[in-house]
Amino acid sequence: MPEFNITKKDLEFKKSCPICMSLKIKKISSAYVQQINYLETSYCENCGFVFRSLRPKENWFKKAWIMRDKIQRDNEVKQYDQNVEKHRILAYDEISKFIKVFCRDKKNIIKCVDVGCGTGTGLHKFEEKGFEIIGIEPDPSRARVGKKLYGAEIFENTVDKFSSKNKYDVLTLMHSLEHIHNPLKTLKRICSLVKLKGLVYIEVPNFKEHVKDWNDVIYLGHLSNFSLKNLVLLGMQVNLLPIARFNTSRGPHLGILFRKEKFIKKNINQNEEEPLIFDEVLDLYSKNLNGKKKIDFPIKVSVPTINDLSLSYKSDENTIIPTFMLFRSKKISHKIRSIRWDPKKRIFEVFSKRASTSKELKKKKSSYLFNRKSSYEYFNLK
Ligand SMILES: [Zn+2]
Repeated sequence: MPEFNITKKDLEFKKSCPICMSLKIKKISSAYVQQINYLETSYCENCGFVFRSLRPKENWFKKAWIMRDKIQRDNEVKQYDQNVEKHRILAYDEISKFIKVFCRDKKNIIKCVDVGCGTGTGLHKFEEKGFEIIGIEPDPSRARVGKKLYGAEIFENTVDKFSSKNKYDVLTLMHSLEHIHNPLKTLKRICSLVKLKGLVYIEVPNFKEHVKDWNDVIYLGHLSNFSLKNLVLLGMQVNLLPIARFNTSRGPHLGILFRKEKFIKKNINQNEEEPLIFDEVLDLYSKNLNGKKKIDFPIKVSVPTINDLSLSYKSDENTIIPTFMLFRSKKISHKIRSIRWDPKKRIFEVFSKRASTSKELKKKKSSYLFNRKSSYEYFNLK
């Protein structure tokens, strides 16, 4: 089974909160692979931000993407799933309509950069609405798809390597900020690409909806778990004023449209939502941890190997090549991931087992099922 090796040299620590710099942070969990502690999740007592205080460095991810890309190409695996792409196109369609409402100059071409465009198959939806758009995507297996299918313009590297003489009207980050190693530093840099009074749309998974149980302890793909309060705070650190909140039709995501200002009064009250308290966060992370009555914190979880760059460990045998891509929906794996308490090692172990009921398999398959009309609401600026 292909796997991604990791050593201590590949790891980095964060001692303070990446958003508010507070040193008052509390550890929620530690994840291990072959005795190496490779991922830790912590909570900031000051702003309620939940983030990976220990994680693989950016370079490790870059190497892993290249390795995955090579294996997928050697095996002639189609590198995208049509259902995922349909979903992406729908997302870009509704977001481009929403942003257009807030663009002052609707007659001229609106210049836009999409940071972390993934496959880039949604970029043409912006073009249809009068935007000129360039996508940025560091994962080569993703970037190639949109170029090939739609002739999309995609810069194939991390956003830190992107520079431009032009100033842009709009910047979008759709489900990319949570993957970025230094959200504050990166956001500061990319905001310099935007004109004054230009728009920045950020959409991320909403912590409360996204973290449902212990699985997030090993969710390697996400380095930040935002909630409304700390996403607004992050924006304000780089002079982005929140204007409107977008409620998508695709899921309970956190979408905020900001406007770039010269200066922001830091004490204005943008939202009434209280930050999550530590006990609530611990409750979420300890859900479905079976086999032990009293859970000790930080929660310790181990995986047999890292074979997936999002979930850390997948139970499918051909895991680096997801089963649905190999068998084109005809056959799905009957294995599921599970977790058990090991009293000797005093750690929760993730393992794979055959699904015993069809209910278990169904649960595994369900995703993208969410349907409501999109809407938006203005921030109540005081
Ligand atoms: Zn903080």
